[in-house]
Amino acid sequence: MTDRARSLPQLAVACPTRGAAPGEPCTSHGGTRPRRTHTHVSRRAAWATSRKDTRR
Ligand SMILES: [Zn+2]
Repeated sequence: MTDRARSLPQLAVACPTRGAAPGEPCTSHGGTRPRRTHTHVSRRAAWATSRKDTRR
């Protein structure tokens, strides 16, 4: 079983959509199913924002 989502860089931040903790994959269907291959778009956006912040 491969959890590709676990290697995504945006896992460094919490997901604003479902509240997944940093390091944990996003979930779907009310948190009952992990998203193994991708994350929410909002999480990627939050990650991009946090990167900009730390670079400042
Ligand atoms: Zn998510």
